[in-house]
Amino acid sequence: MTEEPSRRLLLVHAHPDDESINNGATMAAYAAGGARVTLVTCTLGERGEVIPPELQHLAGPALGAYRQRELAAAMEALGVEDFRLLGGPGRYSDSGMMGLPDNDDPGCFWQADVDEAARYLVEVILEVRPQVLVTYDENGGYGHPDHIQAHRVAMRAADLAAEAGWPIPKVYWNRVPRSVAEDAFARLAENLPALPFSKAAVVDDVPGVVADERITATIDGTAYAAAKAAAMRAHATQIEVAEGGGSFALSNELAQPLFSTEYYELVRGQAGGPRETDLFAGLNPDAGTTAGEAS
Ligand SMILES: [Zn+2]
Repeated sequence: MTEEPSRRLLLVHAHPDDESINNGATMAAYAAGGARVTLVTCTLGERGEVIPPELQHLAGPALGAYRQRELAAAMEALGVEDFRLLGGPGRYSDSGMMGLPDNDDPGCFWQADVDEAARYLVEVILEVRPQVLVTYDENGGYGHPDHIQAHRVAMRAADLAAEAGWPIPKVYWNRVPRSVAEDAFARLAENLPALPFSKAAVVDDVPGVVADERITATIDGTAYAAAKAAAMRAHATQIEVAEGGGSFALSNELAQPLFSTEYYELVRGQAGGPRETDLFAGLNPDAGTTAGEAS
């Protein structure tokens, strides 16, 4: 029997590709460092817009099945073995962008009962017993219904798991500091003529951008930048990564910087210091409780 890794990280995301864009470097770094990294994706992204012309015939369940394979390839690139779909593949479908009639589909994640969806996640939490949970802020980072719902389900599951005996010691939201985003977009504008994208997005298109002082943890993933770019490339229906890996575009073809350093805001639990560089900082790995509480 192999020993259970002492550090266990759980990430909750809306669609296949969100994990690689937001947390790819973090996931690769912790997986390489021997932590157990568990990803729960809430939908298969069946309503995503497909970029490559030769794959644009894919839609609905066929696109979902294809994106499930893209997710598996991305996880291989990041070295992550434990990835699951909330309630099993196809339990919840993509809700589409906010305001579309798709939002009313009774099987879509936006229409899910939050407590029922959270109970699927509680099962995972009680099995894995993560010390760290990563998800989006209450606006889902940028207002997509599935991202908002992923936030609600993750936070509710954390409450229910605490009642059931596993209070997750630290909960983080994905963030990008505004100054970092502004600097990156300034560099991107200079490099744009050399990129395969004709226009750039703007800072406010980036999910989770907040004032710098709200960032509590910075994960330097420079050593895993190539793994992150490879994972993003694996999601080829959704993402085009420029050569060199410094930028990418979604189906809107607007260039965005590809961040290999990733940022977080601690929203529950005790920080291990004023500027954390490790999401597990301050934790006692054996007890699964904060060092301050262990005696
Ligand atoms: Zn998404």
